[in-house]
Order: sequence, then C-alpha cells, then structure tokens
Amino acid sequence: MKSDIEIAQEVEMQPITTIAEKLGLSFDDIELYGKYKAKLPLDVLEKMKNKEDGKLILVTAISPTPAGEGKSTVTVGLADALNRLGNHAMVALREPSLGPVMGMKGGAAGGGFAQVLPMEDINLHFTGDIHAITTANNAIAAFLDNSIHQGNPLGIDPRRVMWKRVLDLNDRALRHITIGLGGVVNGMPREDGFDITVASEIMAVLCLATSIEDLKTRISRIVIANTYDRKPVTVSDLGVSGAITMLLKDAIKPNLVQTIEGTPALVHGGPFANIAHGCNSVLATKMALKLSDIVITEAGFGADLGGEKFLDIKTRQLKKVPDAIVIVATVRALKMHGGVDKKMLTEENIPALKKGFVNLERHIKNIQSYQRPVIVAINQFASDTPEEIETLSALTKALNVPISLCQVFEKGGQGGIDLAQKILPLLQENKDFHYLYDLDLAVDEKIKTIVTQIYGGQKVNFTPKAARQLKEIKENNWNHLPVCIAKTQYSFSDSPKLLGAPEGFEVTVKALIPKIGAGFIVALLGDIMTMPGLPKSPAALKMDVSDDGKISGLF
Ligand code: ADP
Repeated sequence: MKSDIEIAQEVEMQPITTIAEKLGLSFDDIELYGKYKAKLPLDVLEKMKNKEDGKLILVTAISPTPAGEGKSTVTVGLADALNRLGNHAMVALREPSLGPVMGMKGGAAGGGFAQVLPMEDINLHFTGDIHAITTANNAIAAFLDNSIHQGNPLGIDPRRVMWKRVLDLNDRALRHITIGLGGVVNGMPREDGFDITVASEIMAVLCLATSIEDLKTRISRIVIANTYDRKPVTVSDLGVSGAITMLLKDAIKPNLVQTIEGTPALVHGGPFANIAHGCNSVLATKMALKLSDIVITEAGFGADLGGEKFLDIKTRQLKKVPDAIVIVATVRALKMHGGVDKKMLTEENIPALKKGFVNLERHIKNIQSYQRPVIVAINQFASDTPEEIETLSALTKALNVPISLCQVFEKGGQGGIDLAQKILPLLQENKDFHYLYDLDLAVDEKIKTIVTQIYGGQKVNFTPKAARQLKEIKENNWNHLPVCIAKTQYSFSDSPKLLGAPEGFEVTVKALIPKIGAGFIVALLGDIMTMPGLPKSPAALKMDVSDDGKISGLF
C-alpha cells in the first residue's frame, strides 16, 4: 500500500471555496489562506446563533500503543461514510505539532484513505496558529523577565517563576536552562526551561476560549509566578493581556480544510492530552455544530485521558455533550495489554487478545457511566486475522455493546459505512448526561473520584509539596475548578508498565499546577514530559523536498 503522503498527493483537492459552499458559506464569509485553506472569522458563529446545533460524536480510544490506535483516521473515515449515506457531516480535529511530526509519532491528519488535506501543510506550518501561540507565550516570558530587570515592581521571586518559554519542536537540551547571564545589562540570571508549544497554557486557553473577549479574560488571569511573599502574579499584573490577545487575533479563527473525499473539516488547536485537556478548540466545535448536522471530533490518548477531559472539562465550555461516543480499539493494542511484546504484535495471538480485552472493557464501562451511547470501532490493520476480529467482536457483543469493523484506512468512507449505519440510531437516544464529578467538590476529592472511578485505583497519595499546593488552591479560591490529570497514556495507573485493567493500585500526586487561564488544575501523576526528546532515528531523516517543492517522506 502507498504511504499516507503518496495517497494524499494523488488526490485532486477541491478549491476551499467549494468546500465552504457545502457549509452554506460564501466567498465573503471566509478568509482565504491560499487555494485549499481558509480561516472562518468568529462572526460566522454570530450569524448562525439561532440555528440549532447538530449532533456531536466523540471519538476516543483504548489505552494506546506508542504509534496511536487511529482515532483521527476513524474520525475522518466516519465523517466521509456518513456523507456517503447522504448526511451532512463534518470533522473537527486538532492541529498536529511539529515536534512529534519530526520526531516519532508521525502525522496527525488521519491515515491511508481517511486523511485531511493538504496533509503537508497541516503537518507543517499550516496557517501559522502554532507559531502565533509560541510567540504569544514567549512574549509573556519576555515581559516577565523585563519586569524583574526593570526594578521588579511586582516583587516577582525569580526562583518561583512558573511561566516557561516554548518551542514547537522536540529539543531535550532546552528542558532546563539558565538565562540572563553575561552581566547587569542582560537581565537577572535565573533558572528557566522550554516546553513544547502544545503543552503551553496559551494553547489550552485558545482551545477553551469562546470569544476574543473570553480569550483576553483567560489570558489576563494566567498565573505566571509567585511573589517573594508567595502571592500569585498574573499576566494582568504585567499589563500586557491586550497585547498578548492581539498576537492571537487570527490564531483564534478555526481553519477550514477538506478530507480526501471532500468532507469539510475544521482543524484547529492542539493541546496535549496529559498536561492539558487534549481536544480541538471549543470555537471550532461550536462552529461545526452550527454548520452541519453531525460533527465528529476526537480527544487525545485513551478514554481515561482525552476522553475524560472532553467530558468533564471541554463540554462545560462547549455547553454541549456528545450524543454518542466511539471507542477505537485495535487488535494489536489489546494483544499488548494481554502481555505480548511490542515487536510481536503482528502475530496472531487469541489468548493474549482475550486477556487484553479487559482494557477495552474498562474504557467501555467508564464511558457508559456518563450515560452516553457507546460503540466500539475496530480499526483494522493488515496483520489482524479473521479469528482475532471474530474473538474481539464476540467479547464486545457479550457486553451488549455494538461493534463495527472499520476499514477506513484502506477503503476511505466506504470502509466506515457499517460504523455510520450503526451510529445513526444511537444519536437519537436522549439520555441525561451524567458528569463524573460536581465542580463543588474540592480538588483533592475530584482527583480521588477520577482515580477510583475511572482508573480503577484504590488510593491517592499527595507528596508534601502537593499537599501544600492543595492548601494554596483553597486559599486562592480555586477549589471549584475541574482537574486535568497529567499521567502516562499507556496505563490506567501512573505506571506505564501496568497494562490491561489494573486494580487496587495507589497513585501519587507529585505536584498541582494552577492553570487559571485555562480554568483547570493540573495534577501531575509521575514525571510528565512537557518537552519531548528526539529518538535515535528521528522521522525527519526520511523527509525531503524536491527542487519543485514536492515533499516526500512525511509518513
Ligand atoms: P491517533 O489519532 O489515535 O493518534 P492516528 O489516526 O493519528 O491515531 O493514526 C496513527 C498512525 O497510524 C498514523 O500514522 C496512521 O496513518 C496509522 N494508521 C491508522 N490506522 C491504520 C490502519 N488501520 N492500518 C495501518 N496504519 C494505520
């Protein structure tokens, strides 16, 4: 089979104006970024405010292998399939980060015949949103250090600066650095560090904001440091909330592109699903809900991370909950949960598949606890055997959960027809949504609820540092905020080695980070990498561009 980029380059794309017309948008409604990309100004929402929202489908997954289990691919393929059946569906996805693209993970624009286009642009600089976010983030850092240099009127303790610089690359050498060296004119020396842009609070803020005004309010309340007497210092204290919002005035507008089959897609925002909430922007999802009858969106990593955060964090800003939820499962990942070595996942192994099924079962029960209809999509890989598919189907059906064999990677929308047909009736079930926790619950109680009810753990320990931070959270009146847990994506627990559906384990909260702009408290379970490193053989080694500008080796 051809590579993703070869498939993508053979497609004759439709002009973006044609895609916009499918959504009822004229040339005047959109802002062109070349022939195949456009931004949608926020007044599109205002114009459509009286229109009823479409149905929302969330695509989430089991605990993944490092390669990802195909949520973006299934999201795209399902939308194409729904449109083939005569529906009016569109996609709302995240923007890929250059770090993982050049490093290891590969693209995030779907795969095979279920991709969003132009995939080269989407995976590279796209419409510049991530660069704008990088600049906005680093501008705050520059103003902060300037304030310290210019006599430190805010009393910022240089040892208690939380705000880091960012870059949208994997660069381990920048994790811990010293700045301000070289004498008095070069600022105040202090320890600093870089995160990857998609881990920045600005990214989370942009993705949760509901308007420019809301974006400015969120930016103004971001906590960047503490004073010598341990009081929070915010962006508002620096006096630059307006300037920083200004830098994001275009980045906040959702990006319109198309799938291989010409389905409209909004690709906007891309926060990590550990240190942040892992979903595309609220504004893009809101717009999509106004512009089409069915919206398919995705949340990062497994249903315990991005899925839980979509349901407990994003829906509260979106003011809309999913009408149905797809859990993507792969035979290979379930075999891994059944104890098979990662190098042996392409060999048939029914006992391991049966053993690893507990991971899918736990995710299904978790999602059902929100009282949403669930369907399992098996993202079929070439190495899956008929017996393995049959075993997985039988185990799922025994739980009374619908399941569909999804072949969108190989066949595009045609390979998702069965999934589309099975999901349509689920969208009509009108059950009351059940949040996992009330916002009134204290932050430590919220963490305990997630750990015991979603992860299957027994006890939450807090390090002395985290216990002190809990006190500060109470003192600063932040106890009402939702919790965003940063932990490994490979396990329900805080140890990547505990596969399957572990029970009875304890987790330790190492630290709590107030993300007051985003509006959540991050709880760090284990060492979470906010600036990834590059592998020995980065994906970039295969990439090239020809004299006439044609890109190769981008997956
Ligand atoms: P996720 O969104 O869950 O991280 P993606 O949809 O981005 O996963 O897919 C991860 C990678 O796996 C992509 O490079 C994609 O091309 C590839 N992939 C997805 N589904 C299949 C499949 N059925 N067969 C082969 N490769 C696949």
